[in-house]
Amino acid sequence: MTQTSRADLEVRRVTRSYGAHVAVAELSFEVARGSFFSILGPSGCGKTTLLRMIAGFIEPDEGEIVIAGQAMATVAPNRRPVNMVFQHLALFPMMSVAENVGYGLARRGVKAGEIKTKVEAMLARVGLAGAGSKRPDQLSGGQKQRVAIARALVLEPALLLLDEPLGALDLKLREHMKIELKQLQAAFGTTFVYITHDQSEALVLSDHVAVMNAGRFEQVGTPQQLYYHPATPFVAGFVGANNALTGRVSRVEAGWLEVVTPQGLQLHARPGAGALQVGDTATVFVRPEAMTLARVTTTSPAAPGPDGAEVTLHGRVSSLLFDGANSAVLVDVICPAPDGNAAVELHVALPQTGQFADLTVGETIACRFDTQRAVAFKAAA
Ligand code: ADP
Ligand code: MG
Repeated sequence: MTQTSRADLEVRRVTRSYGAHVAVAELSFEVARGSFFSILGPSGCGKTTLLRMIAGFIEPDEGEIVIAGQAMATVAPNRRPVNMVFQHLALFPMMSVAENVGYGLARRGVKAGEIKTKVEAMLARVGLAGAGSKRPDQLSGGQKQRVAIARALVLEPALLLLDEPLGALDLKLREHMKIELKQLQAAFGTTFVYITHDQSEALVLSDHVAVMNAGRFEQVGTPQQLYYHPATPFVAGFVGANNALTGRVSRVEAGWLEVVTPQGLQLHARPGAGALQVGDTATVFVRPEAMTLARVTTTSPAAPGPDGAEVTLHGRVSSLLFDGANSAVLVDVICPAPDGNAAVELHVALPQTGQFADLTVGETIACRFDTQRAVAFKAAA
């Protein structure tokens, strides 16, 4: 057993299968003490299986889990310095808020007077002072969420494990609770391990995010690293909105390469991780906000500059997607290949300057992006 002061959680080569299906595959990672760590991945990628192994509800087939420096192999779930918050909060409906929060302390045999003091202090810290005598059904959805978190934190776990805790809330409340969760974590300094399939939750909340796919981590990094420097095409496609254009690599230069799509579009991009050679099939990713729009009158396809500095594509506006600050346009790109037109649709963020407020469907427009803001990965064969 190793003692590390930095990491509150160490997962070492942990594997878990259900029959022939490998749900978690030789996974290794560490979570630093006091940090907010999210595991982001699509439904079925193994997130809950991983969290349940950390909590001790299921055992790994192989590998080791170390919490606060202590190996967990022989430690029962109720003896682990861990608490879990679920999507369905499972507050006890017949108990008061204070009884719900004090439940775990009572089960530990803590004396009534001490429970009362701790519960009151905890309710005050989560903004529910005076709500102790209420029943859960007298609280709003957000308040119930805070009770569930208070009930877990009052036990002073080293790790709080949260399994899609905002999944059952409506959008507005979810947005609000995101901010609250981040503030609570910062105030308590407890290490949070948070799982979600919602990339926006993971980006907003976390110090570090692991992007999980088919039982493995594709990349672990800060939200900014994942967004601006995705290490794999899966991360580029899953984290944040992205346009994905696939074609053949026709040229490889220092710092950039050229990809020609089947519709005859010539694209330039910087190479992502992994070597690309002429003839490889590659996908170019370019984010909606990395492109700038300009009005043009020409209806010819546009080519990239010869130096790999930028790419301009011409197209026609096919849809205007008004969504306040998130407004965007869809552009059908004009392609050189005879059947290419309307086969490539770009999602381009609309600048908030009002400059394009009168844009109309069918209008011809140029979409320009800096080559270094587009990234190319080898496409899956
Ligand atoms: P996530 O939480 O990311 O949606 P899970 O960890 O729940 O994913 O599931 C991962 C994979 O393991 C899925 O394919 C799921 O069907 C399978 N799985 C989960 N639990 C069981 C189980 N008890 N028995 C059989 N297969 C399971
Ligand atoms: Mg799950």
